[in-house]
Amino acid sequence: MSAPRPLLELMDLQADVAQGRATLRVGPVRIEAPAALLTTPISAPLDALLDRAWFLAPRGVEVGDSRMFEVLGALAEDKELYLDLELSGVPEPGVIPAVLGARVARLRVRLAEDASDVPVAASVELARCVSGRVVLEFTVSAEGAARVPALIAVVGRGDVPRDVHLVPMGSQAQQALSQSWDEVVEVATTHGVTVSVRGGRRVSAGPPLDPLAGANILDASVRATFRSRVSLCPFPFMTTVFTDTGVAVCPAPGGPGSPHIPDGVWNAALFTDVREAFFAGDPPDVCRQCTLFPRVRRSLSETPWGTGPGSTDLPVGTMEV
Ligand code: SF4
Repeated sequence: MSAPRPLLELMDLQADVAQGRATLRVGPVRIEAPAALLTTPISAPLDALLDRAWFLAPRGVEVGDSRMFEVLGALAEDKELYLDLELSGVPEPGVIPAVLGARVARLRVRLAEDASDVPVAASVELARCVSGRVVLEFTVSAEGAARVPALIAVVGRGDVPRDVHLVPMGSQAQQALSQSWDEVVEVATTHGVTVSVRGGRRVSAGPPLDPLAGANILDASVRATFRSRVSLCPFPFMTTVFTDTGVAVCPAPGGPGSPHIPDGVWNAALFTDVREAFFAGDPPDVCRQCTLFPRVRRSLSETPWGTGPGSTDLPVGTMEV
């Protein structure tokens, strides 16, 4: 069996980073783009990078926009991309078509408004192939915390192993989750769902992750690449963020970017200059004041995986790169 393309490319990325090359042979690994840019016709620079990426994070997808779901599903299948999808609420049953569900590696839903708790469709085989499971990440408000046990019960009814990763919106949400934690544990255990809270508690009630499944290897490799290079922000080496008219090196507010799309995009001076600056230990001023980088750094070093018999649990759901 030959090694999967992303794994081979990650080895090139590791080598480029290790050798301090600012011009990268592969990538970007991940693209963020407004959903409106992903409908046809897609601009030539974006189209070319979509052919090279593994993950796509569309921005501004409305939870009821079934047309956009169809578009994203077809695009992801055509470009062999996996989606890091963020929605404004919990989708109604059947709104996410199977072709899209099969390509969702991570789904993030803001659980702040009243919403019915509905599981997300996903292909069993592809989900297993990508990560061994579907990771659902929910941003939880203090009010939303009370609905978490019911949500876990609904999510747990599917036949794909599903992890739930909870991101409290603040200290009050964190406290509310703590108060209902016993109930969370009970429901998670009953339904066989692994539940974790960012930077906090975890109940490993689901089947252990397969550390050799595709995205878990990628996750581990990315962590290995950047965990030991604490002065390097991973974004300039892995991500391209398309804006309405231009492109940015990272999603941080005010991060290095251009209102226009430069020729070559990924290896344009906009990107190579930032990479060189990081290699030289002299990052741009905006990077020195960045609040996102420390969070990513923590995420890379946290490795909050629990271990099951004979396997290591690699949390694809906590990656922020
Ligand atoms: S340090 Fe912050 S601003 Fe600089 S590239 Fe990284 S995420 Fe962007």
